[in-house]
Amino acid sequence: MKKLVEVAVVMKKAERIKKVPPYLFAEIDKKVAQAKAAGKDVISLGIGDPDLPTPGYIIDELVKEAYNPANHQYPSYEGMPAFRSAVAEWCHKRFGITLDPASEVLTLIGSKEGIAHLPLAFVDPGDIVLIPDPGYPVYKVATLFAGGKPYSFKLLPEKGFLPDFSTIPSDIARRAKMLFLNYPNNPTAAVADLSFFKEVVDFAKSYDIIVAHDNAYSEVAYDGYCPASFLQAEGAMDVGVEFNSLSKPFNMTGWRIGFAYGNKDIIAGLSIIKTNVDSGVFQAIQYAGIKALQENKGTDELNTVYTRRRNMVVETFNEMGWKLDKPKATFYIWAPVPEAYGSSVEFAAAMLEKASVVITPGIGYGEGGNGYFRISITINDQRLKEAMDRIRKNL
Ligand SMILES: *Cc1c(COP(=O)(O)O)cnc(C)c1O
Repeated sequence: MKKLVEVAVVMKKAERIKKVPPYLFAEIDKKVAQAKAAGKDVISLGIGDPDLPTPGYIIDELVKEAYNPANHQYPSYEGMPAFRSAVAEWCHKRFGITLDPASEVLTLIGSKEGIAHLPLAFVDPGDIVLIPDPGYPVYKVATLFAGGKPYSFKLLPEKGFLPDFSTIPSDIARRAKMLFLNYPNNPTAAVADLSFFKEVVDFAKSYDIIVAHDNAYSEVAYDGYCPASFLQAEGAMDVGVEFNSLSKPFNMTGWRIGFAYGNKDIIAGLSIIKTNVDSGVFQAIQYAGIKALQENKGTDELNTVYTRRRNMVVETFNEMGWKLDKPKATFYIWAPVPEAYGSSVEFAAAMLEKASVVITPGIGYGEGGNGYFRISITINDQRLKEAMDRIRKNL
């Protein structure tokens, strides 16, 4: 028998994978690994992932429902009717909006999943998607995966990090299919009020654009500030959906449960993608989510903790010469890189070298983030204080 020549299969990546923006933090990651290997006590303020545990009453519900064999089978694709009803009730109480749980609410495997899948339902190759810069990176990648063309618009400090729609050329706006927005905002911690959301509705209606508003931080707010829903704006239900999540208010990032609500045609489109790629969320987790939404306990205490940490960080930086306002929402501090440093990546490297503290360079969120860095306060008070002491002493 003729001997087969061993040939390696050429793993030629698909174009859509090649289009994923380069990972900018490889160099910093390497330096962090080196510092740790050298025995340095590195404190990371880089990751936005709640450090505190999920409240016990939610875990108890998961445990109880995990023992019920009825929950061991495939869940319903769109989410259990009981979970979607709990979302509708929560939205009514929280935002005063009325939703039909059957057609205007969808359970998601975390809001990231829904955000990533939405363009597949509505964006054809070549369609433009309007993306905030700086912004949560998923909006751009999801657009590219669908074959769409991301068009970035800048979020500028002089506009309170809100977009100025008049800077988007009208031929771009006409060709745009979708617009991503996110307030309270990651990474800038900026907030938006209803009059801005009304402006968004007008813009979307005049150019026939689907609005996808990411409201993942609606419950992480301070000093009595209460973030709005995009859907509270008049006419918003005609043009958009909102994404929200149990991850941030209930410390449930690892559980993977979120939800979308809003325009029923958009919900139906997303639902078609989802029924063909996933099979829903483990029902015991949905029951735990219902408990969280109904009892709604723990977020005030959590926000008290974040308020204390936010104050610690802002006060430290302001003592050092920054002039930061205390953010009203999110668990991030977004601050300009001092002039002595060339770029956000250079500043992050200096922070690591001089203080053994990891921060996120703003460039990771787009060109518009260069010149800034982000600090996450999802780390215990003692470690955060240690990080602030080191920054004060060594930077
Ligand atoms: C954390 C976060 C999400 C996603 O959270 P899930 O855990 O997937 O629900 C979505 N958008 C922004 C801006 C976030 O920071």
